[in-house]
Amino acid sequence: MKDFLYRFFQGRYGAYGTDRMTRFLLVFAAILLVLSFLTPVGFLYYIAFIILFYCYFRMFSKNIPARYKENETFVKYTDKFLDFFKNLKFGANRNKSFHIYKCPKCGQKIRIPRGKGKVSVRCPVCGEEFIKRA
Ligand SMILES: [Zn+2]
Repeated sequence: MKDFLYRFFQGRYGAYGTDRMTRFLLVFAAILLVLSFLTPVGFLYYIAFIILFYCYFRMFSKNIPARYKENETFVKYTDKFLDFFKNLKFGANRNKSFHIYKCPKCGQKIRIPRGKGKVSVRCPVCGEEFIKRA
């Protein structure tokens, strides 16, 4: 049986373990299932099944680069999402002592301490330099 499973998973995405996207989707599906039982919103049950189906599809998929890329995109966006909440949490405090400027070249947000008069700012991402009043 173990041998069979080994052969079955060989060359499939699931052989490399579960990625962050799969783990998130499994938890999300579980939450939906619980909600569908606790609330009158019965269709959540179907959504949970579609998500579970998609998880299995990814694990059994042989197109590993495509699945890997999916997870990379997922990680990128969830990181942005988490950063957004971190910014909310510390934002109120932070805005008092810092100015936030956008780099005119690449749009990267840069924090500059207040009360320094005119400062030359160097973008950490693209290296563009610009003058701002902080
Ligand atoms: Zn820049």
